[in-house]
Amino acid sequence: MTTATAPEAIRASGLRVTESRAAVYAALSALPHASADEVYSAVVDRIPHASRQSVYNALNDFADAGLARRIEPAGRSMLFELRVGDNHHHLVCTGCGRVEDVDCTVGHAPCLHPSDDHGFEVASAEVTYWGRCAECAAAATSHP
Ligand SMILES: [Zn+2]
Ligand SMILES: [Zn+2]
Repeated sequence: MTTATAPEAIRASGLRVTESRAAVYAALSALPHASADEVYSAVVDRIPHASRQSVYNALNDFADAGLARRIEPAGRSMLFELRVGDNHHHLVCTGCGRVEDVDCTVGHAPCLHPSDDHGFEVASAEVTYWGRCAECAAAATSHP
């Protein structure tokens, strides 16, 4: 997906490279669709003195700079990912919360058009497919 190193990617998005930003970027590369708390746990493994606030700030800076994308499945904590700009969608498991990427149906935004656009120039459509992942479906079948 991305071949740039963390400092290169951060700098390319116009942000200053700091130790916590580099660690947050590395954590997000390893954990697509991570919540802020999951990113924080991964960062603390590498930088024990990292503060929760510095991790949250880095995530918000990344999202504001277009380096990361925030996804907010209804009723779940906000998730962050580095895959941006390709208008992809998500499958979310209602059982275990697993999230998978799904390529855009058409390849560019908006890939869905409302039946009535009320005069809007529609720029994007975010699609979340809800269902059970294969493991949760299998577990439900074996333990009804
Ligand atoms: Zn599941
Ligand atoms: Zn994604």
